[in-house]
Amino acid sequence: MLRTEWFVSVLIGVAAVVPAFAGTPQTPEAYFAFKPGAEGKLIDYEQLSGYLKALDQVSPRMEVRQIGSSPLGKPMLAVFISSEANIARLDELAKINRRLALDPSIPDAERATLVDSGRVFLLATLSMHADELAPCQSFPLYAYELAVTQDPAVLRQMEDVVWMVVPSQNPDGLDMVVQNYRTYRGTSWDGSSLPRVYHRYVGHDNNRDYVTLSQDDTRAISRLFSTQWFPQVMVEKHGMGASGPRFYCPPNHDPIAENVDAEVWSWINLFGTNMTHDMSRDGLKGVSQHWEFDNYWPGSTETALWKNSIALLTENATPNGASSIYVEPNELEGGGKGLAEYKKSVNMLDPWPGGWWRLSDAVAYELSSFRSLLHTAAENRRDLLRFQNDLCRREVARGRNQPPFYFVLPPRQRDPGEGVKLVNLLAEHGVQLYRLPEAVAAGSRTFDAGSIIVPLAQPIRPFIQEVMERQHYPIRHYTPGGEMIRPYDITSWSLPLHYGVSAEAVDVRIAALETSWRPLELPFTLEGRVTSVPPGTWGIAIPADQNEALRAAFLALKSHIPASRATTPANVGDTSLPAGSIILQGAGSAMQALLDKLTVRAVILTSAPPVALTPLRSPRVALMETYFHDMEAGWTRFLFDTYDVPFQVVHPGEIEKLDFTRFDVIVFPDNTKDELMEGHFKDDEEKTTLPDVPPEFRKGIGEKGMQKLMSFVDQGGIILAWGQACDLFLGVQKIKGAKGKSGEVDEFQIPVENVAKDLAKKGLAVPGSWLHARFAQDSPLTWGMPEDGGLFFQGKPVFRTSQPGPDMDRRVLVRYPEENILLSGFAENEKLLVDTVSGVWARKGRGQFVLYTFSPNFRGSTPSTLKLILNALLLPKIPSS
Ligand SMILES: [Zn+2]
Repeated sequence: MLRTEWFVSVLIGVAAVVPAFAGTPQTPEAYFAFKPGAEGKLIDYEQLSGYLKALDQVSPRMEVRQIGSSPLGKPMLAVFISSEANIARLDELAKINRRLALDPSIPDAERATLVDSGRVFLLATLSMHADELAPCQSFPLYAYELAVTQDPAVLRQMEDVVWMVVPSQNPDGLDMVVQNYRTYRGTSWDGSSLPRVYHRYVGHDNNRDYVTLSQDDTRAISRLFSTQWFPQVMVEKHGMGASGPRFYCPPNHDPIAENVDAEVWSWINLFGTNMTHDMSRDGLKGVSQHWEFDNYWPGSTETALWKNSIALLTENATPNGASSIYVEPNELEGGGKGLAEYKKSVNMLDPWPGGWWRLSDAVAYELSSFRSLLHTAAENRRDLLRFQNDLCRREVARGRNQPPFYFVLPPRQRDPGEGVKLVNLLAEHGVQLYRLPEAVAAGSRTFDAGSIIVPLAQPIRPFIQEVMERQHYPIRHYTPGGEMIRPYDITSWSLPLHYGVSAEAVDVRIAALETSWRPLELPFTLEGRVTSVPPGTWGIAIPADQNEALRAAFLALKSHIPASRATTPANVGDTSLPAGSIILQGAGSAMQALLDKLTVRAVILTSAPPVALTPLRSPRVALMETYFHDMEAGWTRFLFDTYDVPFQVVHPGEIEKLDFTRFDVIVFPDNTKDELMEGHFKDDEEKTTLPDVPPEFRKGIGEKGMQKLMSFVDQGGIILAWGQACDLFLGVQKIKGAKGKSGEVDEFQIPVENVAKDLAKKGLAVPGSWLHARFAQDSPLTWGMPEDGGLFFQGKPVFRTSQPGPDMDRRVLVRYPEENILLSGFAENEKLLVDTVSGVWARKGRGQFVLYTFSPNFRGSTPSTLKLILNALLLPKIPSS
C-alpha cells in the first residue's frame, strides 16, 4: 500500500513541474508593498481578502468561497488550498467527508473506497481575537508559498490534504484593530489597545459563543465543521501575552472534556507533538505544551471536538500590533499550570531567552506550525479518514448501549418561544431531531404528541451530552491531596437550564418511540403561534412567561400600538394570564406587521380584558459602556437590539456633562467600581493597573459624575446594575442640592451590603455556574419568572439586606434555597450562600435601584433570566407627591 502511494505521488510530483498557475501570482511583498510582519505595518481585511482573491484568480491550487457575513456585513471567506485535482472536486470530497462523519453503517468494502478517494480536510480559523494578529498576518505568505511551490514533498502533501483556512474569523474586529493601530502609530500611544470591543457586540467573547451561536460570525464558522464540510482536523490560531513562552500547542492541560473519545485526545497529542518537533527543528525557541490551556470549557475548539473533529488550539506571543517589544529575561514567567517556573522543562524544551520580539518573529512561528500541520495530516491521511468513520460508528454504538438514550422535550413549555429557539439551535449544531406525531404510551407513562426527541445514538453524541446534561466539573489535583486545578473559564453551559426549557433524559430504550417518531421538519416553528387576528379583534394578550411578550411590548411601543401590562393575574377563556402579561390594543396592519416578527402564543381579545392595566411608555435608556473592551456592555447592546429596546450608549467620563433629564433608566452592566469610577483596574490584592488606552478614554465617573447620578436618583431616576457594578451604589452616598434645595446635602446608604469578600475568605468559590434560585412572585421586576428557577453566578458580589433608614425601602427579588444550590458546574462551600440575596430592589426617595449579583444575560446564553433586565426597563417611575 505504501509503495502504491509513493508511486502515485511521484507521478503527481512530475506532473506538477508544469507551472501551477495560469498567471503569475504576485508575492505578498509586491501586493502590499511590504512583507507581512514588517515593523509598523498591518494588513487590514480588505487587503487580506483582496490578496487571497487575486491569488485565487491565477492559481488552480486555490479556491476562495464566501461562508457568511460578519455582524457588520463583511463577507467572511474560506480559502481552500490543495492540489489542482482536489480543488477541482471539492464538493465531491465534501460528500465523502459527510458520509464518513455521519454514516455508521457503510459496508466495509465501500468504506475502503471512500477512505481511498477521500482527502483530509484541515480547517484553520485565524485571529478570532482580532488583536492576536500573527495568524492572519502570516497567512498571505503561506498561501503564496503553497500556490507556487515546486517542492515535491509539499506537492505530495497537498495531494493528500485540503487546507480550508478562514483567513480572519473576525473581519470587523481586524479592521477596528488595524485602524486604531494606524491612528496611533508613531505617537506616544503607538501599539495601544483598541478603546472598545473588537467586534460589533461581543469582542473576546466571540470564542465563548460556540454553544449559543448568537452571532453571525460564530454561526458561519460553526456551520463549517457542524453541517457542511466535516473537517477531520481543525486548528484555531490565537495569540497570547508576551511575557511567557513564545508559542503554545497541544497536548493541552487538564481537565479534559470527559465525554470525548480517548482516540480524539491521542490524535490531538500526536499533531501537537509533531508540531513541537518540527518547530524545534526549525530552530524556534520557547515552544510550550501542556501548559495553562485546558480542554474542558466550551470555546470553539472544544465544541468542534465534541463533534468528533480533532481540534487543536495554538497561541503565539503577541507584540503590540506591528510594533516590536523588548522583553527583559527577568520578566519572563511561566506562572500557569504545567509551567510553574519559566525554565527548561518537559513542557518547554528550549526556553526563549528574552530580547526583542517582533511581529515578524511571531509570523515565523506561524509559518512553521502551518507546515507541520500539513505534514502530519498528509502522513496520516488514510488513518484520519478511517478514524472519522470509526468514531461515528463508536458513538452511535455507545448511544444504543449506554444511557441516557434520549432527551425528550415535551410540547408544553413554560416559555414555548425559547423551546423553539433551543430546538432550532440544536439543529444548527447538526443534531438529528425527531418529533412524535402521536402520543406514545410506554409502560406507565405517555410521551405527548408533539414531543421533540433527541436520540443519543448519533455521531455527535458527546456534543449532545455536553449541552443537554448538567455539568459536573472534573476535579483534578496537581499533587495527591494538594491544590485542585481551577477552571480556566465558566463551568456551566447546559442549554435546558440556561434556556428554562424542560428536557427529560430517558434511561431506557423504548422501541415504540423509535418506530413512531418522524424526522423533525426544519425550521421548527411554534405550534399554536398567533400569526394574524380575525375581524372584530380588540387586541391580544401575551402571557408574561414568554420572553417574546417583552419583545412584543418594545416592538409595539416603537410602532405606536397601545401597550400595557396586566398588574394582576386574570383568566381569559381557558387561558390564564399571569401578572405582567402584555396587552396590545389594535387589529390593523401595524398589529399584523408586529405578529409577523414574533414567535408567541397569545390570546385574541374581543374586548378589553377584565384586569387592571398599566399603560406602557417607551423608556429612555442610557447604557454605560467603558472603553476597556466592555463585553458585558456589548452583550447588553446585543440584547437591546434583539428586543428592539431603544437606548443610548454613554461612557463613564461623560456623566459629568450629561443631561440626565433625557433618561428614565441608566443601565450599568458588570464592571468593577474602580473601572467605572477611576478608569483603572484593581485586582483582589488592591494592585492597580492602568488600562493601555490613551488618556481621553481613561476618565472615570469621578466624584462630580457620582453627584450627578445621585441627583438623577433624587429626581426619580431608575438605576439598573448587575455584577460588580452594584458596588458603585453601596456604602454612603451623597445627594447635593437634595429636593431642589441648593446647599442641602442628603447622605444615605441603601440597606444592602456586599459580603462577597468575607465569604470568599470562608471558602466560597463559584467560577461561573448555574445555581438554584427562588424568584419573588409579588414584584413587577420578576413578572413572568417562575418561583423556582436558576441563574448564572460568578461568585461576586453577594448581598445581604437590612432594615432601611428614613425615606428608603428594599425588597428581595431573588434568593437561594436552603440546600442543593448548585445545579450545574462547580461551587465550593455553596452553603455560605444560604440567607444571602442575589437580586434586590431598593428605593431612596423617588429614586429606585435594581441590583443583581449575577448577569441576567450572561454572554447571551441565559435566556431564562433576561426578563429581569427587560422588566426593569419597563418599571413605572414613582410619581412626585
Ligand atoms: Zn485568543
